[in-house]
Amino acid sequence: MEHTIDRQTNVDLDHVAYHGKDLGVTFKSELIRLRVWSPVAEQMTVKLYRTARARKFDRIELERAEKGTWMVELDRAQFEGQFYVFEAIVDGKRIESLDPYAKVVGVNGKRGCLLDPSSINPDHWVKERPLFHSSQEAVIYEAHVRDLTSHPDGGVMHRGKFLGMTEAGTKTKNGYPTALDYITALGVTHLQLMPFFDYGSVNESRESESNYNWGYDPVHYFAVEGSYASTADDPAARILELKAMVQALHDRGIRVIMDVVFNHTYDALTTPLGQFVPDYYYRLNEDGTLADGSECGNDTASERAMMRKLIVECVSYWAKEFMIDGFRFDLMGLHDVKTMNQVRKALDRIDPSILVTGEGWDLDTPLAVRKKANQHNAHKMPRIAQFNDAIRDGIRGDVFIEDLPGWISGNLDVTADVKRGIAGAVTSQSFADEPNQVVNYVECHDNLTLWDKLAAASPDDNETTRRRRHRLATTIVLLSQGIPFLHSGQEFFRTKDGDENSFKSGEVINRLDWTQAEQETPSVEYVKGLINLRKQYPLFRLENTEQIRKHLRFFDEEEGVIAYELHRHVEGYVERHLVYHNGLEVAVDVKLPAGKFEVHVEDHTVNLTAPRLVEDRHLTVAPLSTLVVTERRPDYSKYAVAGGAALAILGLWYVAKKRKNKQG
Ligand code: CA
Repeated sequence: MEHTIDRQTNVDLDHVAYHGKDLGVTFKSELIRLRVWSPVAEQMTVKLYRTARARKFDRIELERAEKGTWMVELDRAQFEGQFYVFEAIVDGKRIESLDPYAKVVGVNGKRGCLLDPSSINPDHWVKERPLFHSSQEAVIYEAHVRDLTSHPDGGVMHRGKFLGMTEAGTKTKNGYPTALDYITALGVTHLQLMPFFDYGSVNESRESESNYNWGYDPVHYFAVEGSYASTADDPAARILELKAMVQALHDRGIRVIMDVVFNHTYDALTTPLGQFVPDYYYRLNEDGTLADGSECGNDTASERAMMRKLIVECVSYWAKEFMIDGFRFDLMGLHDVKTMNQVRKALDRIDPSILVTGEGWDLDTPLAVRKKANQHNAHKMPRIAQFNDAIRDGIRGDVFIEDLPGWISGNLDVTADVKRGIAGAVTSQSFADEPNQVVNYVECHDNLTLWDKLAAASPDDNETTRRRRHRLATTIVLLSQGIPFLHSGQEFFRTKDGDENSFKSGEVINRLDWTQAEQETPSVEYVKGLINLRKQYPLFRLENTEQIRKHLRFFDEEEGVIAYELHRHVEGYVERHLVYHNGLEVAVDVKLPAGKFEVHVEDHTVNLTAPRLVEDRHLTVAPLSTLVVTERRPDYSKYAVAGGAALAILGLWYVAKKRKNKQG
């Protein structure tokens, strides 16, 4: 989008930044306060409507207040529940818009509603997070609200809605669990939902299969998207129903990560950020055009005081009001380091177990290199996890070169990238200082699904081989150090028929097909087993780099096999796991060291409850598969140390005695 500035811009207004906490609408016992920041407006009024569609309105003027804000207090008894929109004169032009802090909105976010979100709660609303200690315990599962429940064979009543994910006991015709029950059984700890703040690309007043979007086009950052509510007409419904969904997931022990897209907006001119303080919230190129590192038409300017404040206050609001348990920052590399650290700090004050992840790509936006919140600056952003594109592309092959194969398709040039990811990307050639700064993955909503990528990169495979490569990829991710991430349906070979950017391709191409999950039960069970293995043994999710250096060791097997050992002494036991990822299309013989090993993972099956014992030390790793063997035995080394010490003392005593005898 071309947008040339032909006048003085407003980018330098930080000196009138407002530091109060009451931007937007705040509720006092008898008053409703409205406050809007616009140092450049010449006039500000609010138009108040009795109903969502009323044409008649009352107009009330806002007064100039401190630091470039405009303020008015309304009688709560009279105006609560009414709809509103602001009207201002800016640069001599009359502008009508909501402010950037609108929390309760009507259809398509055209009007706000004077309701207090904290008073809109489902009957069952506990406001407690499921137990969770450190980020490496997370297994993230990414999905789109609508995709989860829109399939007609999923047995869900509220298809495509927040409420669909509150339904228990949903199943396919054959009784296979779907949606909430399915995800609960899978054992993932976090459900990451693609944008559900209010976005612009779906018409909320018209439902159809093709009226669909992923939602990476924010309009109202503080408001809930209306198309996921049972009705977009009632502004309270979307709030109530989102909370009901979060509660249903929390009741199952599943935490919720919100995908946030602060880096750009639906449109730089017509969304609230572009209205009352034109240009301020956006980065401009030297020629005055909008920066576009996002490739979505504009980049917001997180480094400016009021944009930074908005981001920090917004995530805090979602975390407190909706009990959101994590935030995934879309194109985080467009933001600045200081903002991301302030986000981390603000969330720590609410609950340090809230996750922060982001896409730390190196993007072309006018921001100093040292300030960009990307992989190069990971060391400046502790406890913020970044997506590891190196392991992704290493395992599956480059996402931008469709036919370039990855390690699972025989490309051994990228072996080092895969190994670095397995070690949590904390080696000197990787970006992270600690494993809690790394999200390992091989598939997400972007680009081809892994299944479709394999079709492009290894077109001559039969289906059996393709399934084997696919499961091998998922295994590597789930057994790597750091935070593992699965794209929904990855566990049952999700396909989008080769559509590499299905953001508006409609419901049919995007929805999760639960009948396919049912057909691929062995694969789903395998992934469940791997998640359980990871949960059962802390060695697969070590807490810091020091532990990874101490407990993880790669060893050589034949080329095309990645082998490593996880090893530790704990509570009187020695525990060790040997992991062999066989990327070859032939079986590989391996010889185990001396010890009593149990086979936990073998040829795409996991057995934790009754694993078979290894009879002799020779095992075969099936083609394109993973072998994990585990030994757990009492730790005699302590006794050895104690015994050694006792012998030494005895020896000294003997020597001393002899000397004494000599002297005597
Ligand atoms: Ca919307």
